Amino acid sequence: VEVGEACAAMHRAHGVDVRCNALVAGFEGGERVERVLLADGSTVEANLVVVGIGVAPETRWLEGSGLELRDGVVCDATCAAAPGIYALGDVCRWYNPIFEEEMRVEHWTNVIHQSRQVARNLLAEPGEAKPFASVPYVWSDQYDASIQSLGHPKADDAVEVLHGSLESLEFVVGYRRNGIIVGGLTFNMPQQLSAYRPLIEQRTPWEAVLEHARAMD
Ligand SMILES: Cc1cc2nc3c(=O)[nH]c(=O)nc-3n(C[C@H](O)[C@H](O)[C@H](O)COP(=O)(O)OP(=O)(O)OC[C@H]3O[C@@H](n4cnc5c(N)ncnc54)[C@H](O)[C@@H]3O)c2cc1C
Repeated sequence: VEVGEACAAMHRAHGVDVRCNALVAGFEGGERVERVLLADGSTVEANLVVVGIGVAPETRWLEGSGLELRDGVVCDATCAAAPGIYALGDVCRWYNPIFEEEMRVEHWTNVIHQSRQVARNLLAEPGEAKPFASVPYVWSDQYDASIQSLGHPKADDAVEVLHGSLESLEFVVGYRRNGIIVGGLTFNMPQQLSAYRPLIEQRTPWEAVLEHARAMD
């Protein structure tokens, strides 16, 4: 199951020339850019270039502070980096108990929910701080497609269609790791996807997820 391929097909159907593994070797032009030079020697005509090369957490100012820095500020499950010091948002690498691993999440919804928990933890009595156990959520509207993602899917998870079909661009897929559901993604079936949030929260075994899917159809 290739969700990325379905997404690329949608963009191609709207006239976008999607090229993967195409390394940019340079830009050419005079007053302004006229073409992009690719590593294979080919060129792409362009009068505007948008560069999307990712972001890195800005933690240089914390070097030497004694806090552990490793692709973000390393925190425990309560988002505490040290006693009385909390991090949140893009910069926070915390232990999410739902997925039993450290993660750093770069989405608005994450920082909104995390800030509430961190505020409660800052005000809590010593030893009463609660873990920030969350199912990350992100959405994007592209053409007619409402795309939503839940959980913490990774490239090497097993992916299975739970509702609809990739070809119709109306589907829910589930992501399985170590026999449990760890994420879900939808094109245009947001209500169905939201039903999987509690299953992800409860680390539901895959067989039960499939039963749930059958019962919903
Ligand atoms: C181009 C782009 C598009 C995005 N699109 C989406 C989207 O569609 N959906 C989505 O969910 N998320 C999106 N995101 C991610 C989203 O913007 C972030 O997850 C969110 O802004 C994180 O909030 P934050 O408060 O952790 O960090 P930020 O919003 O980055 O705020 C951190 C602030 O701290 C300031 N700062 C840094 N160092 C210091 C210092 N030493 N002293 C004082 N201030 C300092 C910075 O200037 C900044 O204002 C996008 C991000 C980018 C870059």
